[in-house]
Amino acid sequence: MIMPPVRKITTLVTSNYGKRIRNRRIEYHNGVDLRTVKITSSREELQKIVVTEDCTIIDKGVDKLGNTYLRLRPLVSYWLTEIIYVHVDLSDIRFIGHSARRLSAGTALGYSELGGNSTGHHLHFSIKNFRGYANPIHDYFIPNGIKYKFK
Ligand SMILES: [Zn+2]
Repeated sequence: MIMPPVRKITTLVTSNYGKRIRNRRIEYHNGVDLRTVKITSSREELQKIVVTEDCTIIDKGVDKLGNTYLRLRPLVSYWLTEIIYVHVDLSDIRFIGHSARRLSAGTALGYSELGGNSTGHHLHFSIKNFRGYANPIHDYFIPNGIKYKFK
């Protein structure tokens, strides 16, 4: 079973996969943006971003725009080549380089963070198959019991 990357029952999709208009230009959004919240002490665990299925780590880093990212190779969804998380605090993840290193489904990665080109707290979540990026909600985690509200 695929777990949702955020733990809220109703998750607001602040920007969907596909074409969108930004700064009066049409651009292609290669994942979905799921709203997250700032850390408050009372509900900390609920606000952590989690691993959707058993994966191995490909790499993590910071992209040209200053956004942190984590690239995973799924072990269950064999039709996917990559799962990508952007805007997550990855400071607790320190084992890159061990090829056998695995993360199991439901592992808490860290909190959502601002930075790079993000304008509000959100998780940017992408999946890739052999043809390129695909729609995470339609092609990946729709059957998992989470409700998505679209802005
Ligand atoms: Zn995004």
